[in-house]
Amino acid sequence: SIIKTAGKRYLKIPKLGYVKTSKTGVLQNTKIKRYTVLLEPTGKYYLSLQAEISEPEKYSLTGKQVGIDVGIADLAILSNGLKYPSFNSSYFEKKAKIWQKKYSRRRHLVKLLVLQDRNKRVLCPRSLESFTNWQKAQKSKAKYQAKAANQRRDYLHKLTTHLVKQYDVIAIEDLKTKNLQKNHHLAKSIANASWRMFRQMLEYKCEWYGKKLIAVDPKNTSRICSKCGYNSGAKPLEIREWICPKCQTKHDRDINAAVNILHKGSTKPTGQGLTMVTS
Ligand SMILES: [Zn+2]
Repeated sequence: SIIKTAGKRYLKIPKLGYVKTSKTGVLQNTKIKRYTVLLEPTGKYYLSLQAEISEPEKYSLTGKQVGIDVGIADLAILSNGLKYPSFNSSYFEKKAKIWQKKYSRRRHLVKLLVLQDRNKRVLCPRSLESFTNWQKAQKSKAKYQAKAANQRRDYLHKLTTHLVKQYDVIAIEDLKTKNLQKNHHLAKSIANASWRMFRQMLEYKCEWYGKKLIAVDPKNTSRICSKCGYNSGAKPLEIREWICPKCQTKHDRDINAAVNILHKGSTKPTGQGLTMVTS
């Protein structure tokens, strides 16, 4: 093929020659079809490979099924009561925010200076690129944003692999957007991105490892009592626990929703308001 591994630590790439790398082990028994070299805003180079691999080994069946509700504080709430917190990378996120501010301020100032030069018709007007301070800030900002994103993706990978190993059938809400108006804009966009990634990973991992993912209509999952089926209407987001007015069962809002999601996923046959994502 076009790229060859050379020992444990090197790849041989056409034109570039030998490039030091790690984890060449994962390339064993694969056929590399295509490669791309990328320069990220952080100044790092990435090599992305498209490889053909033999079919992954299926996970053994456990006989267990689960419903999963997604949230902000807890990313995944399971129908059996387990909760997995959302990933919190506050250190890198804080750093990214600080550098974002510095970057905006510096770039703004530089733009003013460039404009000033132009207006005064100086002999050699300075350009945006001749100032390095804002460019440094841009790099730092990108570096911390990338670190936070990488950590989050890593966490999601570990969580979804764990879930696919544990359960044979996983029912989730088929959500476009979740009701989040009380939350800060940033928290909202991060949560949405996480849920999307969570769903995607579950989807392809279920397919790879021989498990089943079922997406159900989210309608009424937070309104219905999972024990008796009574619909007591919408509840404000700040209500975390409630008691069913009909059967007096005390519910954790999220766990109750997860149980309802499981019910919807396991009781209805395919094709009745139910989307089969994988089989
Ligand atoms: Zn009830």
